Amino acid sequence: MDADIFPDPAGRPAALALARAILPGGGLFPGADERSVVAALGLLGRSPGIVGTTGALFRMLDLAAVAYTGARFSALAPDRQEQLLQRWEQDPVLRRPLFLATFLLKTAHFDHRSVYDAAGCVYEKGGPPEPARWLRQVVAGNEIEDGLELECDAVVVGTGAGGAVVGKELAERGHAVVFLEEGELHRRDSFKGSVLEAKRRFYRAQARIAAVGNALIPTFMGRLVGGSTAINTATCFRTPDWILDEWCSKLDSDALAPERMRPHFERVEQALWVAPVKPELRGPVARLVARGCDRLGWHHAPMLRNAPECDAQGVCDFGCPSGARRSMDLSYVPSALMRGAVLHTGVRAERVLTEAGRATGIEARAVATGAVLRVRARAVVLAAGAVPTPLFLLRQGICNRSGLVGRNLSLHPATSISALFDEPVKAHEGIPQSCYCGEFHREGILLSGASAPVSLVALMIPMTGRRLAAALGQFDRVASLGVMVKDHTRGRVRLGPRGAPLVTYWLTGRETELLRRGLARAAEILVAAGAKRIYPLLGRFLVLDGAGAAQKLQRERLAPWDFVLTSFHPLGTCPMGRDPARSVVGLDHEAHELRSLFIVDGSTVPGPPAVNPQITVMAMADRAAGLIAERLG
Ligand SMILES: Cc1cc2nc3c(=O)[nH]c(=O)nc-3n(C[C@H](O)[C@H](O)[C@H](O)COP(=O)(O)OP(=O)(O)OC[C@H]3O[C@@H](n4cnc5c(N)ncnc54)[C@H](O)[C@@H]3O)c2cc1C
Repeated sequence: MDADIFPDPAGRPAALALARAILPGGGLFPGADERSVVAALGLLGRSPGIVGTTGALFRMLDLAAVAYTGARFSALAPDRQEQLLQRWEQDPVLRRPLFLATFLLKTAHFDHRSVYDAAGCVYEKGGPPEPARWLRQVVAGNEIEDGLELECDAVVVGTGAGGAVVGKELAERGHAVVFLEEGELHRRDSFKGSVLEAKRRFYRAQARIAAVGNALIPTFMGRLVGGSTAINTATCFRTPDWILDEWCSKLDSDALAPERMRPHFERVEQALWVAPVKPELRGPVARLVARGCDRLGWHHAPMLRNAPECDAQGVCDFGCPSGARRSMDLSYVPSALMRGAVLHTGVRAERVLTEAGRATGIEARAVATGAVLRVRARAVVLAAGAVPTPLFLLRQGICNRSGLVGRNLSLHPATSISALFDEPVKAHEGIPQSCYCGEFHREGILLSGASAPVSLVALMIPMTGRRLAAALGQFDRVASLGVMVKDHTRGRVRLGPRGAPLVTYWLTGRETELLRRGLARAAEILVAAGAKRIYPLLGRFLVLDGAGAAQKLQRERLAPWDFVLTSFHPLGTCPMGRDPARSVVGLDHEAHELRSLFIVDGSTVPGPPAVNPQITVMAMADRAAGLIAERLG
């Protein structure tokens, strides 16, 4: 075991005994070993404090066994350990720490080549990167000379859904554009297979940002060229008309009215080659969703996606190894570069340069070397995403007389539910979101077919020990549905210790009820499709028989902290509006308090769009680009 990471050598036998009992092997997949324990301990962070806390969780469970058996868990015989785990799964106090320890172990242990080999799946994906002429326009951060000064018409911070669209549209209109991107340019040879490695390399803060409140909601964002679009699922929904109407009333303007936004949606969808998933790629989960929904008489449809070349590798959220998805790094950014824009990668924008109440550029620093780069521009476009953008402003104390920078955060909390079928499903071989059920959309619930790489399948089966090992023998018969809800609550992004993001968010009874209903509705679909066991993703070990599962979920008393939630859609933290006292930017995306500073990313989306938001962000950016171009003349 890695002595560098283990906080307390005396705790090693305890952690290893728990890991071996929770993930015993003996079935299809190898059991836990020292590697799994080391990886689990370092999962939440490798600082001594975090590793120590994770280690304490294992030690606590080891000691808890004394109260039940008179001996530590690590001193018990395997049969006794197994009995204890089954008892703890239902224990009102110990099921939570056991769930957390199990979650960490499953995440760490199954992210390994041996697991893929056992499942007959390909671990190492990725092909050679294609040669591209636009690469000449890319300057890596470590090549920048300290003190470099550049001049252009528009400097764009961030190359995600907002920044890439603005940059390309301005470049296409003949303006000189400089992109500054904190992440690196990754091409398809980078996107290999390990989920954990992908999160470390391509996600903001190594995927360790979480909203805290009455639930813990890991909040994911990309940190690479293409932003979150380069690690997203390629699902493309237009903002529904009813949402745009809501926003128009809120903004007291028809600026975002459906008929005014339509041309922007059309332009973006055309650029991204958005189309329904081809029938031959919809996969078995879509077949089951269709069967279940048809039996219930509920709406379902194939997903619209921006992945025309998709070959269903199933790892979209960790970078597309086929280069099939027209994420910003493969669509808008290259188009901008081919029109003369320049992209600086690995540089972090640190401050807005100003003169006489006007933004005049950006000062940035190369992440690797610390070299300083100043880019002077007539328009400064901030498109760093809904968590980094408010932090950037708060750090400088600018544009916040309204006190609204960082507030109004919506997250679209999401969870999932899985089911065991008699028939082979092989969900891990399909497109992660190839279909959806819109039956409850107006209530604020969106259900999507869901699948994940084989390394994540164990997380969907709420069991430990030998029962888990046996269930995993049928891992290819498990299908899942994602549940995402339109939130009413609003969280906040603040500067935490050492400038780190502090994200707070409290689910109200309304979201809790929507999540519970969403899980119950999804269970109905799965049962109608023939599922014999239902595995809701809750912070407990709940396995329901197929028939009656939905009713049980309807009746289940669930508090916010009972859900296992994630967010892929932070939005709204620099609200748009006419009134400077009640918003951060105007309807033209210009900051009320700093002329020539435009904010064009998820932070200016007025509220949760109730659908996956990339097309919303891009269409708003397409509109904003026209307005910025008018200003540039
Ligand atoms: C795993 C995942 C799956 C998703 N799936 C879907 C989906 O299927 N469909 C959908 O519609 N939406 C999806 N989304 C959401 C969607 O991708 C985002 O809503 C959208 O990309 C947000 O656009 P943005 O411009 O606000 O930010 P981003 O796309 O995140 O781009 C922001 C960029 O700014 C850079 N940046 C930040 N700070 C700085 C700085 N100081 N200096 C320089 N650069 C900086 C970041 O590195 C990043 O590249 C998903 C998101 C994730 C994380």
